[in-house]
Amino acid sequence: MSDDKKPSSGGESTDCAETEETETVAETKESEAVSSAQQEENGTETPTENNEGDNSHDTHKLWNSLEGKIGAVAAVVIIVIGVLFGTHVFCVHHWAKATCTSPRTCIICHRTQGKKLGHYWLPADCEYPKRCGRCGIEVGKKLGHKWEAATCTEPTTCKRCGKTKGSPLGHDVTAWKTTKEATCTESGEQEGTCNRCGQTVTQTIPMQEHTPGDWEVAKDYTIDPAGYVTPGLKVRKCKVCGKVLEQQEYTVELTTSQSNALAKAADYLSFSSFSHESLIRQLEFEGYSTDDATFAADHCGADWMVQAEKKAQSYMEVSSFSRAGLINQLEFEGFTPDQAAHGADSVGL
Ligand SMILES: [Zn+2]
Ligand SMILES: [Zn+2]
Ligand SMILES: [Zn+2]
Ligand SMILES: [Zn+2]
Ligand SMILES: [Zn+2]
Repeated sequence: MSDDKKPSSGGESTDCAETEETETVAETKESEAVSSAQQEENGTETPTENNEGDNSHDTHKLWNSLEGKIGAVAAVVIIVIGVLFGTHVFCVHHWAKATCTSPRTCIICHRTQGKKLGHYWLPADCEYPKRCGRCGIEVGKKLGHKWEAATCTEPTTCKRCGKTKGSPLGHDVTAWKTTKEATCTESGEQEGTCNRCGQTVTQTIPMQEHTPGDWEVAKDYTIDPAGYVTPGLKVRKCKVCGKVLEQQEYTVELTTSQSNALAKAADYLSFSSFSHESLIRQLEFEGYSTDDATFAADHCGADWMVQAEKKAQSYMEVSSFSRAGLINQLEFEGFTPDQAAHGADSVGL
């Protein structure tokens, strides 16, 4: 209210200042007129020389009185302008933006422009009361969440805003029926009915562990005639799916007698042919133990099929045989029936 009055009261004082100034100016003009009249009068009566002295004296007096009056007027004007600014009749406005509750306002003179914006109301919701989106003022209370209990598949949920709390309960199945067995290579599946919601639920049965079998030789070690051993490989496979679960190298340390038996076997094989059995017999005859002789026959690297061929050849060179006779002879030498038959085949019988 007081803001509205100020401009009009300012207007009055402006008028007042102007009036005062006008009067002063009028007064000055009046006195100028008077002194010029006096000057004219003096000019007609007095001689020129005297006139000159009198004139300068009068002009000086006049000038002094003029100067005093102009000074007074200027002082009054300055005071009036000061008062006008001091009372905010004149103002270099500094506008503050309009807000929800006030229009655009000068922070110095508080003059206003336009209208206040009014609040920008947002409705109350679960977590906030009704509030102004611009200035944040709140009215009333928040609504609060409307919680709905968790189910098998959904967590506790607010019906109004959809906010959730915790986790779903998960289905409650007591009796599972296996529809597919799990193995060590594939997961299985089971089925059941949920006690809470009645839904048929399918669940994965995790893959089973492998079933390790015994260690077995995947690649035997080899020994050359000089007694140099190349390690072999042992593996442990799953009994169910056959996957190799573990593997390791293995080797042997040869005893002196094994080493000697091996050298002897190589020696024999270099000038004659033998079956596995006849080679052992020969080495035993030489004085080696059955174990050392067997070890040497096992690791001498001979191919017994090739030995059967060579043996058949040597028999055919010294005598003539029927197929059955030759096979008999080869079996007598210790070859297996397969090896003996192969020997007979190889010489065309
Ligand atoms: Zn202002
Ligand atoms: Zn507001
Ligand atoms: Zn809610
Ligand atoms: Zn359920
Ligand atoms: Zn397996």
